[in-house]
Amino acid sequence: MERIAVLTSGGDAPGMNAAIRAVVRTGHYHGLEVYGIISGYAGLIEGNMKRLSLRSVGDIIHRGGTVLYSARCDEFKTEAGRKNAVEQLKKNKIDGLVVIGGDGSFRGAKALTSLGFPTIGIPGTIDNDISGTDFTIGFDTAINTVIECIDRIRDTATSHERAYVIEVMGRNAGDIALWAGLADGAESILIPEAPFDLDEVIERVRFASERGKRHSIIVLAEGVGSGVEFGEKIKQALSVETRVTVLGHVQRGGSPTAFDRVLASRMGAKAVELLVKGEKDKMVAIRNNKVLGVNIDEAFANKHLPDLELYELAKILSI
Ligand code: ADP
Repeated sequence: MERIAVLTSGGDAPGMNAAIRAVVRTGHYHGLEVYGIISGYAGLIEGNMKRLSLRSVGDIIHRGGTVLYSARCDEFKTEAGRKNAVEQLKKNKIDGLVVIGGDGSFRGAKALTSLGFPTIGIPGTIDNDISGTDFTIGFDTAINTVIECIDRIRDTATSHERAYVIEVMGRNAGDIALWAGLADGAESILIPEAPFDLDEVIERVRFASERGKRHSIIVLAEGVGSGVEFGEKIKQALSVETRVTVLGHVQRGGSPTAFDRVLASRMGAKAVELLVKGEKDKMVAIRNNKVLGVNIDEAFANKHLPDLELYELAKILSI
């Protein structure tokens, strides 16, 4: 193996730059040339790539987003598109590829390996919704952003008697809502993976108010439904003032936390080591604080589930 490439694909996540840096520098450590592909699979099909020197990834470890840009590419979902991609890789004498992205991007990585091109996936998404790894790059930064926002809402909330509904991201997964809700002492956390009864949620708001709590914070995962509609239902049931905040894309941005930078550095290095060893069809995962290469099918075999023990704990502690 002499030359490898790296791309970022799908939704961007803070820490992707730290992973790119780690791929480039570990590649150089092993005597490889490293190429960066611009704009994910779209750039791959077009052959849009540039050589990344050791210095070219200086000063990016602390930056959110991805310096290689990301994209969604429907053409890559077609066989013809993927064949073009492999031709570009061969034409540019690339021997192995690292794909940093979510589960959609991993399906693309799997497809490339099936076409005989060694590809390794690194889980990068704020949603933490990839099965087979305890954490994905960007999740820790996102939950820290969310708790900072909720802390601010809490400051103003104490001055009024209100219910606050905060809708957070996560696509179909409840991890962001669960971790942020627990970290912020929310009265209720609503996630798609745990059934809930709206009447019970309303009862908790009422009960909190009766015990002298001046406000209730309800954290709702976007996968459960609309925060605005939810807030309306609570308002109608209790006649309490209800404020809804949909946090949106602030959760995607910002400087990565130390945890995400370290995770990304470890995962980037591991991906290169796997390629150097001739491994393929693998994703990098962190389990019990060990960074490993596991079969990429593990990302698809089971539905991702958040740690539901945290959900039970949050219920106990929010009394
Ligand atoms: P994420 O990687 O964050 O889950 P997407 O689901 O949008 O984001 O996937 C990113 C890109 O990966 C898509 O635009 C497409 O190019 C590629 N991709 C997604 N699913 C597949 C698939 N089943 N086969 C091949 N490529 C795919």
